[in-house]
Amino acid sequence: MDLIEPRTVDEVRDAMRRASRDGTRLGIVGGRAHADAGNPVDVDRELSTVRLGRVEAYDPAEMLAVVGAGVTIGELRRVLGEGSQEWPADSPDAATVGGTVAVAPSSPRRLRVGPLRDSVVEIELVTGDGRSVRSGARTVKSVQGFDVHRLATGSLGTLGAIVRVALKLRPLPKVRRRLVARPGGLDAGRALLGSIPLPSAVVATPGSVEIALEGWPDEVDAQTSAARSAVGDVEVRDGEGVAGPEPIDAPVVVEVAVAPSKLHAALVGEDRWRAVIGVGIAWVGLPDDGERLSVGRIVDASPLSRSAIAHHLRVLREAGVLRCEKIGKEVWYWPAPDVVRSALDAVRDYLDTHFSSDGSRNAAAKRKRR
Ligand SMILES: Cc1cc2nc3c(=O)[nH]c(=O)nc-3n(C[C@H](O)[C@H](O)[C@H](O)COP(=O)(O)OP(=O)(O)OC[C@H]3O[C@@H](n4cnc5c(N)ncnc54)[C@H](O)[C@@H]3O)c2cc1C
Repeated sequence: MDLIEPRTVDEVRDAMRRASRDGTRLGIVGGRAHADAGNPVDVDRELSTVRLGRVEAYDPAEMLAVVGAGVTIGELRRVLGEGSQEWPADSPDAATVGGTVAVAPSSPRRLRVGPLRDSVVEIELVTGDGRSVRSGARTVKSVQGFDVHRLATGSLGTLGAIVRVALKLRPLPKVRRRLVARPGGLDAGRALLGSIPLPSAVVATPGSVEIALEGWPDEVDAQTSAARSAVGDVEVRDGEGVAGPEPIDAPVVVEVAVAPSKLHAALVGEDRWRAVIGVGIAWVGLPDDGERLSVGRIVDASPLSRSAIAHHLRVLREAGVLRCEKIGKEVWYWPAPDVVRSALDAVRDYLDTHFSSDGSRNAAAKRKRR
């Protein structure tokens, strides 16, 4: 894939203008941690932001940093750490700030740090036709006009290339501690959330509940005592937070976002999951059975009516060609891999027996036909 790596915002504008004029489809990429997020489309070229990798302004007294979109999360952590501050995005080190703003992933610490959108106070975006749009303000009082920066946060590259952002920072907590309580399950997680004052995350799995605590030492000790009073023994790991989706050992991990009260319904029948209690985010591990499609997406992509599609799906499911699973309110379908494989093998055998590599029919096959 042809890659453009602009070093300045002007170069981004030129690249976007040229692509727009020539009808070239440009995809925006950062650290590529999550390039398949959302609903990716085919592109002709990619525009990478990695060379827009400068921390342009950072004054700890202002609790604000202005950074190029290509700055990596690891580099930003290092720079802000020197001022004992953080941008609480919790993405992997290799992800970029622009990519993280574009994806707006939910941190497991959301209970404490709030949604990512609230920490992005200003964005400079270059639109598809090469115009610069700046939205938001570095001081809260002077915010005017539409909140395009809030719209662009989570826009997955669909509104243009985010080239520069101003971020509201937090002090680094003095102490971090992870508690692990057993047994697990959603009910145990909810009970712990109700018993501990202001935890930064309560993450339940089928086997355990992990609680992230952070703040001043006295505060964290008091939270630890509250957890012990609620469930008895807990394992204490100082210096650690809780992780996001990574610990799920499954080829495919699906993120589910529902109202916190609907988590039970979303996880019925699943045995590999991590759920952030009180937030309504869960990650569910699924087998790699090929691409899954919800009925809604099949209906959107097809000229057939919903009832016709439901009929075809039922026939294919009963014939063993499709598998399905209900997650939350959606039913997901995917091809049964063994059936697809044997169909592909049959087609390949047919082509091998009947056609030569130059596409002409084999004489033996012609004779057989006669
Ligand atoms: C606790 C936690 C753990 C996580 N763990 C993982 C993990 O293990 N694996 C993982 O893949 N993700 C993980 N994520 C999600 C990850 O943080 C985001 O996917 C990541 O920040 C994307 O950054 P990137 O630079 O790699 O973007 P890319 O992967 O390069 O791009 C992602 C999307 O953003 C768009 N985009 C990128 N840059 C820009 C820009 N400058 N302007 C406009 N659009 C842009 C792209 O077009 C694409 O749609 C985690 C998030 C959290 C909070």
